[in-house]
Amino acid sequence: MLLSAFDAMALVAGIRQWVELESPTTEPAAVNRLVDLVEAQLRALGLQVERIAGRDGLGDHLRARTPWGGPEAGILVLGHLDTVHPLGTLHSRLPFRLEGNRVYGPGIADMKGGAYLAYNALRYLVERGETTPLPVTLIYNSDEEVGSPTSRGLIEETARQAKYVLVTEPGRNGGCVVTARRGTGRFRLKITGRPAHSGVNHEQGRSALRELAHQILRLESMTDYARGITVNVGVAAGGTRANVVPAEAMAEVDLRVSTPEDAEAMVRTLLALQPVTPEVTLEVRGQLNRPPYTKTPAIDALYRHARALAAELGFALPETATGGGSDGNFTAVMGLPTLDGLGADGAGPHTYEEHIFLDRLVPRQALLVRLLQTLQ
Ligand SMILES: [Zn+2]
Repeated sequence: MLLSAFDAMALVAGIRQWVELESPTTEPAAVNRLVDLVEAQLRALGLQVERIAGRDGLGDHLRARTPWGGPEAGILVLGHLDTVHPLGTLHSRLPFRLEGNRVYGPGIADMKGGAYLAYNALRYLVERGETTPLPVTLIYNSDEEVGSPTSRGLIEETARQAKYVLVTEPGRNGGCVVTARRGTGRFRLKITGRPAHSGVNHEQGRSALRELAHQILRLESMTDYARGITVNVGVAAGGTRANVVPAEAMAEVDLRVSTPEDAEAMVRTLLALQPVTPEVTLEVRGQLNRPPYTKTPAIDALYRHARALAAELGFALPETATGGGSDGNFTAVMGLPTLDGLGADGAGPHTYEEHIFLDRLVPRQALLVRLLQTLQ
């Protein structure tokens, strides 16, 4: 029985090593210490490992391929090694710990738990001398949490050689896998007004902050839950002193969309924003960084296959759509059968409550192994 081949506490010990090497996206030296460990572990399995040097202030990426199988299309497994948690989180707000059925730690759900399960699935096969019908390629990137600017090309190039894509992002809402994801965009507004002394010549000033207030309300009013569109002004700043008419202001905006049509329309609208105030300039930059994907018949077939494997292992595998983007968006819009949310089952990603469920680890591990064993 496959389930009895794995020990939950041994999985926790392996995941702990990865979690205790903190790896915020913006700290490439720290990320690369984890990349060092993962690279060594992959090489020890006899995989063909490439390490792609980081750029633009981001960490390195790893691509590892099984030595078996011909050059034909295989299974691409995606995972990221970066987290959103700043260095030190492990020692202050979110120490690694086991409490009842919950295992806590920075990035443990999103997604070191799942990333480790992917590695460990291959380790299980290699140690038993087993090969899979299709060759398997693993990609561990280091910039997923900022939209994968330096790894998207690597993912897409590798995906062109693949037949299936499995993403070990965390399971959602009680172990759901993900078969549709909204697209995400990031935009930055820069507003330039005219400074003036608030007491001496206030009427000559043109307030950038006042303009920003108009723009924030306008942007937020574009949210349409029924259509799955959200426009979130997450950061706003401006001004220098209370007694100066502010000449500069900025905002950062996160866009989520459910369909390619809405994506195109919203991007066009955001880039065409005009100032409300005379003599104030407004500059908008940004783009869609992950296109939306919806469930295709091929994605549905892959999901049904996984669900049948889970049933054989004795558990249910519900599906869901989510607003969060992942690297699965890139491969799904290429038309590849992509199944996401196959990683550890947990909750609280990106928060100080981030954890995974101990009793769900072995079933999820076994499911990954079965997928690799059966996809052809
Ligand atoms: Zn993630």
